[in-house]
Amino acid sequence: MMPWDKLREECGIFGISAHPEAARLTYLGLYALQHRGQESAGIVSADDQRLFVQRGMGYVADVFDERRLEGLPGHSAIGHVRYSTSGESGLANAQPIQIDCWRGPIALAHNGNLVNAAQLRRELERNGAIFHSTTDSEVFLHLLCRSRRRTVLDSLIDALRAIRGAYSLLVLTPQFLIVARDPHGFRPLCIGRVDGRYVFASETCAFDLIDAQYVRDVEPGEVILVEDDTMEPRFPLSKGKPAQCIFEHVYFSRPDSLVFGQSVNRSRRRLGVSLAREHAVEADVVVPVPDSGVQAAIGYSQESGLPLEFGLIRNHYVGRTFIEPRQSIRNFGVKVKLNPVREILKGRRVVLVDDSIVRGTTSRKIVHIIRSAGASEIHVRITSPPIVGPCYYGIDTPTRGELIGSTKTVEEIRHFIGADTLGYLSLGAMLKAVGNGERFCSACFTNEYPTLLEKEEKQKELFDDPGAEAISPI
Ligand code: SF4
Repeated sequence: MMPWDKLREECGIFGISAHPEAARLTYLGLYALQHRGQESAGIVSADDQRLFVQRGMGYVADVFDERRLEGLPGHSAIGHVRYSTSGESGLANAQPIQIDCWRGPIALAHNGNLVNAAQLRRELERNGAIFHSTTDSEVFLHLLCRSRRRTVLDSLIDALRAIRGAYSLLVLTPQFLIVARDPHGFRPLCIGRVDGRYVFASETCAFDLIDAQYVRDVEPGEVILVEDDTMEPRFPLSKGKPAQCIFEHVYFSRPDSLVFGQSVNRSRRRLGVSLAREHAVEADVVVPVPDSGVQAAIGYSQESGLPLEFGLIRNHYVGRTFIEPRQSIRNFGVKVKLNPVREILKGRRVVLVDDSIVRGTTSRKIVHIIRSAGASEIHVRITSPPIVGPCYYGIDTPTRGELIGSTKTVEEIRHFIGADTLGYLSLGAMLKAVGNGERFCSACFTNEYPTLLEKEEKQKELFDDPGAEAISPI
């Protein structure tokens, strides 16, 4: 497996209502969202009576061909690309999930992670529910189907009231599409218009590809019923403190997207400018770690007056897995992905700009590669503070003990990665650079989580004691 040491984005979702090319536009939308998940891809489409599903493992281009798209007729569709955040990777966990229940066929695509899924699942299983996957997302459908409310919309709202955590959600039936975002707004979800119809996507880069116009974000806590070309928004959930994931701007999202209503490109440049102000150093050249460090390096270069050069070239054609020779001693995993440009690096004092350090192992290898290419000094600059805690809201993070920021001081990290100096952007400067810092979650940098967490001890206690009190699903 490629030893690439980054937090991993969770999922990307896309939906469209009442469009004759629904499945094909969804397919294109998923192409644009491929960076948000590369382990599986799926689309469910709807005609007036039925749902049609096509899902598979791999990239969007691997999963869908003409024959599979032909198998997705109808006027509306939802799509999903996925990494494994909760539950193992595998076709059973691929989304959208599609079920037939007493309410008829329903499909769901979920981006995020629920913090009380284990408790809810246990309670549901005690009451006879049978789960087909190990993902959090199936909990929504079980709760929805058990609600005694008259409509699917009201039943979904019942389910959402029992759920805590992060969700941007698309629910499709033959009659309508429902769109929802959790009250904290952890994960993004945007609304667009194409050919007079509504379209929804995790990031606006998906709209650009299909010539849709960005309208606005789905608001935190908002639930929208979409029928044909009409949208009925409502706010049935208790208000939460806004906690939009700041890492979407630091690293996850594409720089050509608007996320949470603001340009990712602009945020990253401002992060770079702030970094240059907080951690100036005498050097010859600014080099980004591609691709996510590029915009910040531009900002650093502009503020510092140092020239920007692409001293590392990324190989974009490396697959998801890379098999190293058994007797590997030369960091093939990193080298196959990043190659140094010696004439840029040789004999020069390099400012290396990256977005984050997770375990430190990849940063160490990159510093080694640059040093081997002849750099005389390497000054690593990071556009976020040290990561000190895991994410419970849909980002794949190592355990706290594996996060180098939680176990070592900045000086110890500098020593570990082999840099001459190391500078992390401060929390205050990061929040300021992305605009209104009040609206963001930054829990993995502070250990101050915006929701109650399901402590592992509590879950274990519930597991060990069948009589223990659990949250009622409805
Ligand atoms: S904990 Fe970190 S990665 Fe997770 S939602 Fe908050 S800012 Fe984003």
